[in-house]
Amino acid sequence: MDNNYNINTKCVQGGYTPGNGEPRQIPIIQSTTFKYDTSEDMGKLFDLEASGYFYTRLQNPTNDYVAAKIAQLEGGTAAMLTSSGQAANFFALFNICPCGSHIVASSSIYGGTFNLISVTMAKMGITATFVSPDCTPEELDNAFTKNTRAVFGETIANPALTVLDIEKFAKAAHSHGVPLIVDNTFPTPVNCRPIEWGADIVTHSTTKYMDGHGAAVGGAIVDSGKFDWMAHADKFPGLCTPDDSYHGITYAEKFGKEGAFITKCTAQLMRDLGCIQSPQNAYILNLGLESLHVRMPRHVENGQAVAEFLQSHPKVAYVNYPGLPNNKYYKLAQKYLPNGGCGVVSFGLKGGRQAAETFMKNLKLAAIETHVADARTCCLNPATSTHRQMNDQQLKEAGVPAELIRISCGIEDKADLIADLAQALEKI
Ligand SMILES: *Cc1c(COP(=O)(O)O)cnc(C)c1O
Repeated sequence: MDNNYNINTKCVQGGYTPGNGEPRQIPIIQSTTFKYDTSEDMGKLFDLEASGYFYTRLQNPTNDYVAAKIAQLEGGTAAMLTSSGQAANFFALFNICPCGSHIVASSSIYGGTFNLISVTMAKMGITATFVSPDCTPEELDNAFTKNTRAVFGETIANPALTVLDIEKFAKAAHSHGVPLIVDNTFPTPVNCRPIEWGADIVTHSTTKYMDGHGAAVGGAIVDSGKFDWMAHADKFPGLCTPDDSYHGITYAEKFGKEGAFITKCTAQLMRDLGCIQSPQNAYILNLGLESLHVRMPRHVENGQAVAEFLQSHPKVAYVNYPGLPNNKYYKLAQKYLPNGGCGVVSFGLKGGRQAAETFMKNLKLAAIETHVADARTCCLNPATSTHRQMNDQQLKEAGVPAELIRISCGIEDKADLIADLAQALEKI
């Protein structure tokens, strides 16, 4: 599809263009394997001499249609789908960070990604230095070692709602000859396209707004095609020297800047680790993408209205939403997210754990869930649910004080959402 179309059009029609008499909707290729006339034909696929499909553990046409749409939305050159957001972030990092390498990451990231990097990847011999997203350029610079191979951050962090200064992180990464990887799950490409600000690789938990209906777990990796691996060949031997497990192919030579990262990630990591999204889930994801540009503005409108309502309520101690002018990240949000960020708002109730418990119990529309970024509004008080083993002091140290509530505003009518919150606050 013509890349000059607006993002709204790409959401609806990107990635898949049917030919004469072909299905209008993306076909679900529910097949593990693909048939060939000669062994030689298939051999060419294995050698990466021809493009095509042989086994759905590595690639499937349904997934590739949807990945192509996400690449268009983000302004990238290549993309792939993974079984989850966790798999997307792991693959994006592990594709260029072998044992002995080092990652610089923002400390304000999703808990699952923090564990992935600080615990699981550490066991694989990959170390990390976490920096505050608010660090000075000098502090950021000091976090690098000679083994640093990637920089990682989230456009809007889940759940802290900090906004990443993408240009600051991209500049630091590039001055050290490594790429910036940005998890763009919360704003989605409708509200921010990190590649336009210097990010090299973009990842997603498509489980969130992209699917948007709480229906399918999934992830995506998009390559900007801009990072020049060969210019830093000493740092990225996996891309810039022959791969013995693939008949001596040098990815950066054969597939260029535009295709090397995703081809290697598919040929090696998907082959060996197999975290692929099912074609059925890719189809469901695409249904979500078709309305992403219609849903995101409503999530933002509801998030902003709920944040403003809560801020003016006497029983609310504080509200954290980057769209509020008194928010620490308001200026960065104005720059990177001029149309708003997302529908997730966090706030603290006066009266601590007791008040939070009463409030949660009395919600009618907002459902109690750990999920976020769904068309239906959902709400979580970590102290009385996910983090209930912790005492008040431990909760405070973990950054989830007892009174903290996270609300993910859906796309219902904002008047109904505010009325629900008002009646629950009334009961405290
Ligand atoms: C949820 C989430 C993830 C993990 O995604 P899953 O699909 O749950 O594996 C990663 N990053 C962010 C920002 C998330 O919100």
